Amino acid sequence: MAVREVDDIFADIIDRTKTLDPANARKWFDKLTFLHMDGGSLGIGCPDEVTVQFLQDNCKSSFTRAAQQITGHLVTVDFGVSTSREFDSSSRRNRTGSDGTVLQEKYKSGSPKLHPDYTFDNFVVGPSNRLAHASCVAVSQSPGNTYNPLFIYGNSGLGKTHLLHAVCFETQRKSKSAVMQFLSCEDFVNRFIRAIEEGDLSGFQSQFRTVDMLVIDDVQFLREREHSQEEFFHTFNALYNNGKQIILSADSPPGKIPSLETRLISRFNWGLVTRVDPPSYETRVAIVQKKAHLRGLNISDEIAEYIARKVQANIRELEGALTTIYAVATTTEKVIDLELVQIALEGQIKAAARHISITDIIEVVTGHFDVRLADLQSKKRSQSITEPRQICMYLARNLTKHSLEEIGGHLGGRDHTTVMHSCSKIGQAQKSDPQMHVLLEELTKQITQTPQA
Ligand code: ADP
Ligand code: MG
Repeated sequence: MAVREVDDIFADIIDRTKTLDPANARKWFDKLTFLHMDGGSLGIGCPDEVTVQFLQDNCKSSFTRAAQQITGHLVTVDFGVSTSREFDSSSRRNRTGSDGTVLQEKYKSGSPKLHPDYTFDNFVVGPSNRLAHASCVAVSQSPGNTYNPLFIYGNSGLGKTHLLHAVCFETQRKSKSAVMQFLSCEDFVNRFIRAIEEGDLSGFQSQFRTVDMLVIDDVQFLREREHSQEEFFHTFNALYNNGKQIILSADSPPGKIPSLETRLISRFNWGLVTRVDPPSYETRVAIVQKKAHLRGLNISDEIAEYIARKVQANIRELEGALTTIYAVATTTEKVIDLELVQIALEGQIKAAARHISITDIIEVVTGHFDVRLADLQSKKRSQSITEPRQICMYLARNLTKHSLEEIGGHLGGRDHTTVMHSCSKIGQAQKSDPQMHVLLEELTKQITQTPQA
């Protein structure tokens, strides 16, 4: 193939991916490069490993579908750092298969998984988050020496996770050798429980007690987890005493997290506790503009202001609206006018308000697998029953606010460790098995789009 032709095909694949996956489509997709195309595998070059990991986890299936549609062949897609030697054809042989697993494994041990959008550059500073932002910047300039621990709290959707990612990005940029662990508290608890089950507590401990920076998101999840609190306490002490940075986020201040041990509350208060508030109107307008810009969407001031007036409490609601606007704008030739925006937002706000129940989930899953609820609730352990049961648990965990115990209760009185195990099993499968990925996407779509009575 001529070079020109390859470039055109590659550009078409990127465009098609954006249409297929409007939620993830970003302007920076245009900067991805063609690496190679041989043996049915298309290599796509990314600027850094964070991007590789992000695309691998979130966009592999849409890139693959786009590549197959454009080329008409059964290609698989791989992501790699474009300057990395791993992607030279000479060393590619060493990797297992075409799914990039070795690359991923290697990467996992080093850097945390981050969202490429969640940088300081992409964070809009206003009165509601100025202090939280400033403390995050300060910590990233001099980890372990300014505010330790740094504790950020506030309601959902106000940018806590974004700020934590940004600290990691900045720290990584300044010091390539810094060892960081970034994870949700739920992940921390799950890994701790798994380590106990597998009898590898010392492996777990060395993983967390030897880092330069430990970032744990949503620590309110520690409530009622006595053993995890105990472990966390020792992890905290080990790091703190060695001058290592600890950053935490939660939905409420330390003292207000239910059944959090007093000794943890007091430690969380040792450093700086800072709050994020809902953003003002001006800040919201700026956020809308920033988010639209990241997607390569041109919207007028009038439209940005309209969206900012409509979306107030939770910035996350904005994302769905922008996705809809983007999807309509790219698939139709329509200009983005106020009417289109109104329709997109209305759908989004309704979806956010819509309450998804475990029953909705069970209905869709039993329908899909053609099994009965009584089977899911029974003790049957055949694959044909176990899988839909585990999928129900996984979806309930992701789409509802029910606790593990409640979810287990709906599915035949199973205890929380069973539910947790199922969720992590399906979660793993979702990442490693494209078929499972597609299935979960489809079920989720059905559940969230079921008309409400
Ligand atoms: P939280 O962790 O507090 O629930 P997130 O960090 O997940 O919230 O933020 C939700 C969404 O809102 C993310 O897409 C994030 O990028 C965006 N967001 C929140 N605050 C800001 C801000 N000040 N500037 C830019 N984006 C923001
Ligand atoms: Mg968060």
